[in-house]
Amino acid sequence: MSGKLVTSPSTKRSNAAKSEKVACPNCAAALMIHRSDRPQIDECGFESYSLQCRACGSALVGIVDPLDDKLLLTVSP
Ligand SMILES: [Zn+2]
Repeated sequence: MSGKLVTSPSTKRSNAAKSEKVACPNCAAALMIHRSDRPQIDECGFESYSLQCRACGSALVGIVDPLDDKLLLTVSP
């Protein structure tokens, strides 16, 4: 009775509206980034997200590395 497993073909690699937990590089507060299906793409072809830390108020920029789909968060100057 456990043989039926329903898998959606889009489960594996979907960037649509997924949330990512990140830590503020300034104060280490836990933040959530909502990755949309229409991200901003910068001139180098990276997905980028702008957000503000709700704990320390820093302007932050998140960039997704296209090679490993990892989100890198930096403090915006
Ligand atoms: Zn912060």
